[in-house]
Amino acid sequence: KKVADRYLKREVLGEGTYGVVYKAIDTKTGQTVAIKKIRLGKQKEGVNFTALREIKLLKELKDPNIIELIDAFPHKGNLHLVFEFMETDLEAVIRDRNIVLSLADIKSYLQMTLKGLAFCHKKWVLHRDMKPNNLLIGSRGQLKLADFGLARIFGSPDRRFTHQVFARWYRAPELLFGAKQYGPGVDVWAAACIFAELLLRRPFLQGNSDIDQLGKIFGAFGTPKHSQWPDMVFLPDYVEYQYVPGQPIRTLFPMASDDALDLLSKMFMYDPKARISTQQALEHRFFSSGPPPTEPALLPRPP
Ligand code: ADP
Repeated sequence: KKVADRYLKREVLGEGTYGVVYKAIDTKTGQTVAIKKIRLGKQKEGVNFTALREIKLLKELKDPNIIELIDAFPHKGNLHLVFEFMETDLEAVIRDRNIVLSLADIKSYLQMTLKGLAFCHKKWVLHRDMKPNNLLIGSRGQLKLADFGLARIFGSPDRRFTHQVFARWYRAPELLFGAKQYGPGVDVWAAACIFAELLLRRPFLQGNSDIDQLGKIFGAFGTPKHSQWPDMVFLPDYVEYQYVPGQPIRTLFPMASDDALDLLSKMFMYDPKARISTQQALEHRFFSSGPPPTEPALLPRPP
């Protein structure tokens, strides 16, 4: 009944990318936690050591906008990761038709997302799998990024489990062109997709294959010109494409303010070297001009 002599298992919360997640009580602190059970391949003993070492580093990543990794231990051939328990996630907020999101609310959610990202990027840790259901929301409305660094430790999850295809909608163009070396820009692109989704209340670029995803991106912003992204031609999966004109960003987001559109277009820069950083994005006038971001405790949430 007790796992690792400390955690009392409760109900299953869901099936995730890496395995089952269940609710539990930490008998040491009385705190409710979420335990993620990660299946480890038998023949991957060496990988496990690397994983455990990297997970030790994740335990040091403490920030108000990052889900705390409380504990990590192997148990019956599975790796167990213990996280603080969170009430809901941003996907549930976006999908709830009874919730109205004001510009101040969107600003608040985006700011918390960027703060969590900026903290990790400063330490050279990438998320790599940003999507609205990885942005968890606590009882006091605080947004925290979940699954930080897991994509790197356990490998790109999208190939192993089909439900992961949704992550494609948040994938940066350099990844779709097969870049092996990429940087924090991949998380900024994903954050831009989430920003767009908060404005539109539906996923912005819904590709149904990697090629189609690029097509959706080109359809919105136009095919990248050589001058916009000189290094593109060196990417492994780069192929010549037909010219497609872009749409003015105003028509894509008719309801957004000028400041919102300016920030959004800087986060959606094709060239990852030209894309705005998380730190610069936080300093953008979208956040300093009125209305101020809503206090987390006052943000609208599903019942
Ligand atoms: P995915 O890999 O598809 O993103 P996860 O493995 O993160 O899914 O989570 C699977 C399920 O567990 C989801 O329903 C998610 O809401 C829930 N869950 C994950 N982490 C937590 C947490 N810290 N607190 C509460 N629920 C969680």
